Amino acid sequence: MRYLTRGLFWIAVYLGLALFPCLALLSGNMPPGYGYWWDFSLALGYGSASMMAIMFFLTARFKRPALPFGVDVIYYFHKYIALLLFLIVAAHPAILLATEPVVREMLKPAQINRYMAAGVVSFLLLTLIVVSSLWRKQLNIPYDTWRLIHALLAIAAFILALIHIEGAGYYINTPGKRLIWPLIMVCWLLIQLYVRLIRPLRLLSTPYRVKEVIKESDEVYTLVVEPRQHEIPAYKPGQFAWLTMFYSPFSMKEHPFSFSSNPEQKGELRFTIKELGDFTKRIKEAGPGQTVYIDGPYGAFTIDRHPAERGSVFIAGGIGIAPLRSMLRALADRKDQRPHILFFADKSLEKMTFYEELKALPDQLNLQVVFLPQHPPANWPGETGYLNREILTRHLPAHLSELDYFICGPAPLMDMAEKELHAMGVPLQNLHSELFDFV
Ligand SMILES: Cc1cc2nc3c(=O)[nH]c(=O)nc-3n(C[C@H](O)[C@H](O)[C@H](O)COP(=O)(O)OP(=O)(O)OC[C@H]3O[C@@H](n4cnc5c(N)ncnc54)[C@H](O)[C@@H]3O)c2cc1C
Repeated sequence: MRYLTRGLFWIAVYLGLALFPCLALLSGNMPPGYGYWWDFSLALGYGSASMMAIMFFLTARFKRPALPFGVDVIYYFHKYIALLLFLIVAAHPAILLATEPVVREMLKPAQINRYMAAGVVSFLLLTLIVVSSLWRKQLNIPYDTWRLIHALLAIAAFILALIHIEGAGYYINTPGKRLIWPLIMVCWLLIQLYVRLIRPLRLLSTPYRVKEVIKESDEVYTLVVEPRQHEIPAYKPGQFAWLTMFYSPFSMKEHPFSFSSNPEQKGELRFTIKELGDFTKRIKEAGPGQTVYIDGPYGAFTIDRHPAERGSVFIAGGIGIAPLRSMLRALADRKDQRPHILFFADKSLEKMTFYEELKALPDQLNLQVVFLPQHPPANWPGETGYLNREILTRHLPAHLSELDYFICGPAPLMDMAEKELHAMGVPLQNLHSELFDFV
């Protein structure tokens, strides 16, 4: 309930900020209207400019607004609201072009002034942002390159949109109304200052050092780090942090990883990382003493937000076990008495990270572990293959709808588990998942 109220508050703040310029322009002295479509199109233009400004706020990782949702959910919101923003921006000139011959004249290459040109270029940059984000993988753009281009394009598109409004904006007819956009610009600059300067400086002043790199399997390593001189910030089992290693915190080369360590165990943090690309393949190069910067904790994927009375079910695929290991270890250390179940799927037992540890965990915790190797050893007595409804039904208790479910793994496993569990009667609010992919 606490999170619900706070969530509703921040949604109201979002709507208020998005609508603020339109409402402010509608107040007080107004020039004569130019008809419905003209006014509607301008309202879309102003609304989209403020939505663009809020985009930067969304990804600035402010902890208070992110708390009710989890910062990862805010990132997904950023992603999907951007598509709506793009449609609104596109509708702004489309309506004017369709209904106002004078605008068609103004956009002719011989007639166009720099304010209108700024609007056109801003729209083209937004189009580039959408295309490069939606089809980044298909276009083979490495994540770090994409992120840099994304930030630069977004900054340019926003500044050009403000220039367009300053020169071409109708209804900005009083000194007070002229102040709205510089005010938004100042807020935006403050956010940039925080993200690009203050936060990296803060990270620089709280460095960690690598204590140990543990090889878990062929392609999975656990990075054990300890703070150089400060306290570890409190975190909840299952949360994640952004990690920068081999670069400075100003580089924007940071990667999100779940804590695989147990917050009850003080003095060190653990991240269990699977080799995937440029950064993760370098984890094994980190020797003791290597400096690491950690921005966190973030995220709402944690048992501490959902203390189900009758126990929890954990469903992991591959490296998705990392945040679940953190939760399970925390439950064991807290001497939790509730019954829990873990389903863990991977290609083989050898590939399963923490296999031996998880096998032994029922000695310390009221836990039933269901391993699901796709390629089991000969005479394997347990379940095999992909997780499906039959396997879930065989192991879940009759009161399955009263349990909380924590799901992390490859997207097909997560989709299947969520769909089947919901079909079996588990309410959506009991399903909690973490997808290891923002874009
Ligand atoms: C909330 C969250 C928690 C995660 N926890 C873990 C974990 O515990 N263990 C683990 O092995 N992996 C985890 N990941 C995935 C991990 O962040 C990526 O595998 C890693 O960043 C890949 O970087 P790379 O340069 O090695 O590979 P690349 O080839 O550069 O990237 C592979 C894919 O990883 C994603 N990715 C890359 N860089 C970033 C970035 N800076 N931010 C967001 N996504 C990125 C992109 O989708 C990209 O296509 C997590 C991801 C998220 C979003």
